[in-house]
Amino acid sequence: MPPVKHRKVVMLGYPSVGKSSLALQFIKGDFPTDYEPTIENTWSKTFVLGTDEFELDVVDTAGQDEYSLLPQSFIFGIHGYIVVYSVACSRSFQIATGLHRVLVDRRGKCLMPIVLVGNKNDLPSQCREVKQEEGKKLADSWGAAFMEVSAKDPEKSKQIFTKIIEEIDRVERSFSEEKKCSFM
Ligand code: GDP
Ligand code: MG
Repeated sequence: MPPVKHRKVVMLGYPSVGKSSLALQFIKGDFPTDYEPTIENTWSKTFVLGTDEFELDVVDTAGQDEYSLLPQSFIFGIHGYIVVYSVACSRSFQIATGLHRVLVDRRGKCLMPIVLVGNKNDLPSQCREVKQEEGKKLADSWGAAFMEVSAKDPEKSKQIFTKIIEEIDRVERSFSEEKKCSFM
């Protein structure tokens, strides 16, 4: 087996969109029923993807609004971001848009591995405030991956984390391709 690859990702998004529920569904394989909303925590999980073994640290943040400043610890040493909104909350979608702007400001215009996640798609259609196409369009404008999920669905929740690992690989590969070109 090749050495374990270490990756660290941060979950960002408006409070109550389901960041902790998604993280815990992935880490513990269960939908939490009474998780303290203000807690910020870093979870760690080792898993195999393809032929590689990954140790993934997931920083589950307490949530952001338009006035939140992202601390240095969310910027440096971070391989990728999972930006979450709720399909039942248009405000959380606006906050996601703003968060991307903040990330670009702080990290510079370099390619950034991001998965944009529209959560709570299990809710009845009358609760929906953000169309799936809107989510996809926003992710495309960032050059990011997009998924609509429910934290109640273990398989879908897991896919978010395999997706961000793939995105980190994809972005790293495109960087080394660029470098090769500049040396030619
Ligand atoms: P966070 O503040 O973003 O970490 O959000 P939480 O994970 O604490 O979830 C906020 C609330 O939304 C809780 O009551 C969760 O049970 C609920 N919730 C989270 N994800 C889902 C989901 O996919 N579907 C539904 N119906 N409720 C969810
Ligand atoms: Mg939380």
